[in-house]
Amino acid sequence: WKNAPPDLRALVEISRMHADRAATILEDDRVSFEAQYRAIASLAHALAERGAGKGDRVAMAMRNLPEFVVAFFAITSLGAIAVPLNAWWTGPELEYGLKDSGAKLLVADAQRWARIAASREALPDLENVIVTRAEASVDGTEALEALIGRPNDWATLPDKPLPGAPLGPDDDATIFYTSGTTGAPKGALGTHRNLVTNILSSGYNAARACLRRGEAPPEPQPKVFLTVIPLFHVTACSATLMGAMAAGNTLVFMRKWDAAEALRLIERERVNMTGGVPTIAWQLLEHPDRAKYDLSSLEAIAYGGAPSAPELVRRIKQEFGALPGNGWGMTETMATVTGHSAEDYLNRPDSAGPPVPVADLEIRAEDGVTVLPPDTVGELWSRGPMNVRCYWNKPEATVATFVDGWVRTGDLARLDEEGFLFIVDRAKDIIIRGGENIYSIEVENALYEHPAVTDAALIGLPHKILGEEPAAVVHLAPGTRASEAELQDWVRARLAPFKVPVRIAFAPEMLPRNANGKILKRELRELFADSSSRP
Ligand code: ATP
Ligand code: MG
Repeated sequence: WKNAPPDLRALVEISRMHADRAATILEDDRVSFEAQYRAIASLAHALAERGAGKGDRVAMAMRNLPEFVVAFFAITSLGAIAVPLNAWWTGPELEYGLKDSGAKLLVADAQRWARIAASREALPDLENVIVTRAEASVDGTEALEALIGRPNDWATLPDKPLPGAPLGPDDDATIFYTSGTTGAPKGALGTHRNLVTNILSSGYNAARACLRRGEAPPEPQPKVFLTVIPLFHVTACSATLMGAMAAGNTLVFMRKWDAAEALRLIERERVNMTGGVPTIAWQLLEHPDRAKYDLSSLEAIAYGGAPSAPELVRRIKQEFGALPGNGWGMTETMATVTGHSAEDYLNRPDSAGPPVPVADLEIRAEDGVTVLPPDTVGELWSRGPMNVRCYWNKPEATVATFVDGWVRTGDLARLDEEGFLFIVDRAKDIIIRGGENIYSIEVENALYEHPAVTDAALIGLPHKILGEEPAAVVHLAPGTRASEAELQDWVRARLAPFKVPVRIAFAPEMLPRNANGKILKRELRELFADSSSRP
């Protein structure tokens, strides 16, 4: 292992050096790195015996469980391709993921398998199914527990070396599906190298933040992460999990997201970091019982994946005394491409930060060729060893998105003179009102500044003459009030008149989001389309 190549087999060996430290915690299950290593090796042997080898797709359908981590590394250390399916998907959606990836094996929790079981006949490629956390044996499947026992027994598993042949950094490792915010989810085929670049990037960014503060970087010390976003998405899997394996961080999981439970866990496990998506941070801030908990261990709340309002940055610093962090990335770039934290972020709260050291960013004109100067809005292009190779099974989409080593992101953005990235909108969401561009994030941020607003989305409504008009949907904090006219005046006082939403609807709850915390603007548009007046 002296010349350990940058692949996930080596990462699994590295993780074992953290020995007795907790790797994952879920309720009463506490798994040390040593126990986790043994479970990974044992499961990898079992998968190899069931025919999983280099290049085979092995799907996973699980919520955040210690078993997720074990299955992910058992699959990838064999050289097979892990296909984490979205645990929120319905039966037909899971069936799509299994068919699209041509998975030969599946490791699922009992809840997910119950959704898929009826489609088994329609999945001829699927040879073996391993189910975990079932109350009783499930027909036609094997229990994961029969192969490796329950998490609290993993420490007593025999010490076996990882099976399988050596891997190279450019071997395929994963197919993650995009969030499906703008259309059907697409599988992105990633390599071992794509995943391990995140470890370098996060370490570098942390050190860079210290430099800006004029502080010496602290001795590297493992941290406790409350991991509330799903591991089936790149943000948690590649950024949080890869870093945890390298640095010995502990991941605390939750059965399901619940802000009060999260506060309790932060206190109980002395959590240092949490976040994931901006909504999580909002819900922690807004929770009425927040003051009852000891949250003094919290050092940072970092998120990405969706636009976040500058207001959130200020409040995290003020009310939690924690450092806010942000990062931009997409499934096609295997998560982190920019990282933003500490003073940098407080000074530029509307930015997603500078690129990580391995990434190049450019803003290009619509022709996809002309590179635009600083402070000009255009389409964001990204290049670097974190970018995945291609889409799985989608040659046309691959040609449109992966161009000469660059990923054409579909996001509209600008870079300032110092290279800080400012996302202004998705190209598909921009509203063009009589030839004037309205970037939804700018208007949403103005709405977020209003003390009553905790959730806001801007969408375009069709208009005969102007083409489109902006309309907003907002959710107000419990116990607060604001009228449509008041909010329109609020925006008018901050932005040009053509940007003021012509209609503002009030949602009784937080706005609909997908599993990755992104507001489903498609659904909001349908809401307006369905009603002649107001939703
Ligand atoms: P689909 O591609 O299937 O429509 P998606 O684009 O939401 O779904 P992801 O790959 O999960 O799927 O998300 C990437 C997108 O998330 C980016 O293109 C960008 O629009 C948005 N995003 C990511 N990070 C940030 C951020 N820090 N600020 C603003 N937007 C972000
Ligand atoms: Mg996308």
